[in-house]
Amino acid sequence: MIPKLTPEHTLPACVLAFRDALVAAGFSGDIETSYAARLAVATDNSVYQALPQAVLLPKTLSDLQTITTLGQSPAFSGLKFSPRGGGTGTNGQALTEHLVVDVSRHMRQILEFNAEERWVRVEAGVIKDQLNAFLKPHGFFFAPDLSTSNRATIGGMISTDASGQGSLVYGKTSDHVLALKSVLVDGTVLDTAPMPRSQAETLAAEPNRIGAIYRQVLQSTLDHREQIKAKFPRLNRFLTGYDLEHVWNEQLSEFDLGRVITGAEGSLGFVVEAKLNITPIAPFKCLINVKYDSFESALRNAPFLVAARATSVETVDSKVLDLARNDIIWHQVKSYIEDVPGKTMYGLNMVEYNAEDEAEMQDKVQTLEQRLQQAVANGESGIIGYQLTYDLNGISQIYAMRKKAVGLLGNAKGAQKPVPFTEDTAVPPENLADFIMEFRALLDSHQLTYGMFGHVDAGVLHVRPALDMTDPAQEVLLRQVSDQVVALTAKYGGLMWGEHGKGYRSEYGPAFFGDTLFNELRKIKAAFDPDNRMNPGKICTPWQNNDKLVSVDGVKRGYFDRQIPLTVRQSFDSAANCNGNGLCFNYEENSPMCPSSKITKDRQHSPKGRAGLMREWLRLMSKQGVDVLAQEQQLLERGAGIGKLWQKARNSWRKQRGEQDFSHEVMAAMEGCLACKACAGQCPIKVDVPSFRSRFLQLYHSRYLRPLKDYVVAGIEQTAPMLAKFPTLVNGGLKLTPTKFLLEKTVGYVDSPLLSVPTLAQQLDGQYTFDLAKLQAMSAAERQNVVLLVQDPFTSFYEAELVADALALMQKLGFKPMLLPFLPNGKPQHVKGFLREFAKTASTAAQFFNQLSALDLPLLGLDASLVLVYRDEYVKALGELRGDFTVQVFHEWLVQQKLPAMKQLAEHTNPFKLFAHCTEKTALPTTEKNWQQIYSAAGLKLDVVAVGCCGMAGTYGHEVQNQANSRALYDLSWQQHVEQTSISNMLVTGFSCRSQVKRYEGSKPLHPLQQLLRLLP
Ligand SMILES: Cc1cc2nc3c(=O)[nH]c(=O)nc-3n(C[C@H](O)[C@H](O)[C@H](O)COP(=O)(O)OP(=O)(O)OC[C@H]3O[C@@H](n4cnc5c(N)ncnc54)[C@H](O)[C@@H]3O)c2cc1C
Ligand code: SF4
Ligand code: SF4
Repeated sequence: MIPKLTPEHTLPACVLAFRDALVAAGFSGDIETSYAARLAVATDNSVYQALPQAVLLPKTLSDLQTITTLGQSPAFSGLKFSPRGGGTGTNGQALTEHLVVDVSRHMRQILEFNAEERWVRVEAGVIKDQLNAFLKPHGFFFAPDLSTSNRATIGGMISTDASGQGSLVYGKTSDHVLALKSVLVDGTVLDTAPMPRSQAETLAAEPNRIGAIYRQVLQSTLDHREQIKAKFPRLNRFLTGYDLEHVWNEQLSEFDLGRVITGAEGSLGFVVEAKLNITPIAPFKCLINVKYDSFESALRNAPFLVAARATSVETVDSKVLDLARNDIIWHQVKSYIEDVPGKTMYGLNMVEYNAEDEAEMQDKVQTLEQRLQQAVANGESGIIGYQLTYDLNGISQIYAMRKKAVGLLGNAKGAQKPVPFTEDTAVPPENLADFIMEFRALLDSHQLTYGMFGHVDAGVLHVRPALDMTDPAQEVLLRQVSDQVVALTAKYGGLMWGEHGKGYRSEYGPAFFGDTLFNELRKIKAAFDPDNRMNPGKICTPWQNNDKLVSVDGVKRGYFDRQIPLTVRQSFDSAANCNGNGLCFNYEENSPMCPSSKITKDRQHSPKGRAGLMREWLRLMSKQGVDVLAQEQQLLERGAGIGKLWQKARNSWRKQRGEQDFSHEVMAAMEGCLACKACAGQCPIKVDVPSFRSRFLQLYHSRYLRPLKDYVVAGIEQTAPMLAKFPTLVNGGLKLTPTKFLLEKTVGYVDSPLLSVPTLAQQLDGQYTFDLAKLQAMSAAERQNVVLLVQDPFTSFYEAELVADALALMQKLGFKPMLLPFLPNGKPQHVKGFLREFAKTASTAAQFFNQLSALDLPLLGLDASLVLVYRDEYVKALGELRGDFTVQVFHEWLVQQKLPAMKQLAEHTNPFKLFAHCTEKTALPTTEKNWQQIYSAAGLKLDVVAVGCCGMAGTYGHEVQNQANSRALYDLSWQQHVEQTSISNMLVTGFSCRSQVKRYEGSKPLHPLQQLLRLLP
């Protein structure tokens, strides 16, 4: 039995008093002080980890004023604040041991839009892609781009002065900020926008905080103008962190205080709102992928491509390309980056052209094409080929691959993982190739591996050397390499922080700026935040303040990770390897990743949050001397033991009475997971939450009793066949109000599905019977057209007509289908963490299927979420004993068959619409394409509808406590698409999804195979 866990981190009294004072003062946002909530924001994408004292999640400007004005009272003068957005920083910018103020959950409103004047006003928590999705129908976009665009916030972008692809043309975030509204540490609301010098001087004369700030910034920037211009590099990626140069225009006639706030990393105040310049979307776009014989060739060729009037030039090396080949994303991009016959591609430049009209586009593209053809023919510049596309969807997919590069690198095998600390160096583009060659030599001298990609047009290259941060010696190496790279960038006239800001690298600031200018930064900080209370330690400390800057030697995640024994880390590699890049925070409604995170906007309920909680739980267990793996083994071999029941009952009773145990916090996060497995498919590191979740559940329930619903769900494959013997009776009972009430109150279950009437056996009436002996006796020729259909509990007992239709379809196509006897699959047991029982179920099923696989016949299943268990969970549970049988999802088999032309009915003049199950399409990325191929081969049109999770996910949608989230998920992504599609045109691959549509719309859509059957001639 696992012990109780009580983390040592108790909160200081002043934090608890501050929490109470906030509530009393009418703070309308959320205040989170649990250990789990604090852990969820203790990391970003960097190597660092810092546990905050609390997380404040304001809803309004007035909430931020409440925080800051209350913070002025002497009782709270020791409190410090770090603003936070998407938490995607790569250098610990938003990490703190003080209070996190996270604006990303609630402050997500787009407030005002003016197409004529080309601007938009937004709250700081708006996500970059959310803004662009809003602007797209109006023909505009917010131009500064960054790889984390689907989760990084405008507040975070402003505060790091983010930029990325296309920065040569589109500039950085600061180039597009028209006005800012900020709240300062004393509660002052500061509005900034470009203004005439005279107005700035008038403001500077005011006897208040704003006057003091203007006075200081005017003085610092005018007195040292020449020095500033000499120090700030003449680069596209100019300096971040108090931009002393660009507060002025060239003529010194216009002043914008906002320029010191952009890039300030939250060290000067909270950005609350921003008025942003927006850019018209170019009507014509083309992407040319130029392929090279080496990465060096790609780098050296970049200036030529820029000179060829490219809008942007992005590069990736062969390592990134190779990793992309093994990722779900490759299916979308492979046709645009085909291999060159007889050559090996070691580098790729992606050249984008934007144009206002077709003639302009053709002129640019044809000129470059001629040169590229010449180069390929003459073997010049290492160019081995190129490919061109105008397909907007293809272009965005290729960029999605490029944006995923960091995550993909993190998926490298072995203990050494690519880590950020030198990942955004910028040098003048003409020096880039030489700089990178020397950079590579430096890394090679330390025997470090790395992958490279980046914005060659701007001289920015992303390099993440692979280190094992759990090894203290490698932590020392990180510092050494870091120092060497700082020196190297200086040698080539560049910057260590060319894109991602300073964060824990702030310690390099004084040496870079020199005493005089750095002191001016400190004076500016003092004018805004004299007591160093805003994101302390980042960028600089206030003038005449003795606090220290944060440093590259700060406490790292590896320090905590290494406290988990290696064998445990390896066994829970999925949780251990999450690198925090935050791709799982994807805001996009129609993306499968990650429903619980999307709907709660709570970081604990994301794959990253759950992985972090799991790591900490394993660390605390290890600290208490618990051998988690041994406990698991014991539970698998002997079960929890009846003798422990009394102890469990006592522990559960104590839980009811509010006894603290960190395991409860982990449990709450795990319970919110839908076990949809979108993370396992879409996370670049393949963090598979359901896999470690079920292991956690098993261990948790070795100490605490299980709720009744766990037994009901886990036993569904055993009870359904029995109940299906009396379907009318059972359904009648289920429809009664008292039964519904009882199920809801005792089991916690609502809207239970009804059993099929007539049953499957009645519908089949003795056809398609499986007879092993008969099959074994047949010759290979006789067996040729036999296909075996594997039953699953959901379709067989609750949707028998689908099983019957599948068999009929196969028969009509000329096959001899046979229905295998029902054998439990085990998924419900796995989902609820009954791993001992699951192993037994899996073993029985595997033995049966292995016996069949000797017959060499196709084994097909109808519901992908169950079929996929044979491929993944069975391997994990049984190892070699799983054998090598294969069960295909129905479409995987059907796509290989020849289909006749189908009937074209008048009511189907519009294309059919495919809604694919999220588990299926993330694990089998060709699912939608395969169905389109099948329908096209049958002469039918099928459009794919991009949808996220339907909110049902097995039994999640039936559990009482999930009702609000289940409905909200359906409304978020499915409801609008369902509304736009007639039910007769809708084709839905998942049992759960069909049930959810039935539950909310009253009618059930068909599976795509059923429509085929109906249209067979
Ligand atoms: C895989 C990956 C790829 C990346 N690619 C790029 C890229 O292409 N280009 C690029 O520029 N960056 C990139 N980054 C870095 C990061 O995404 C950016 O710095 C981004 O702008 C951070 O936004 P965020 O909302 O996540 O902010 P956070 O990480 O939460 O915060 C960043 C900083 O901004 C401050 N801050 C946040 N909100 C506010 C606010 N409202 N008021 C005041 N201060 C605030 C925080 O205190 C912190 O100092 C990448 C990061 C990762 C993990
Ligand atoms: S779970 Fe995956 S996507 Fe999410 S932060 Fe971790 S590695 Fe990134
Ligand atoms: S299984 Fe689904 S709900 Fe659970 S963490 Fe993964 S993506 Fe989120």
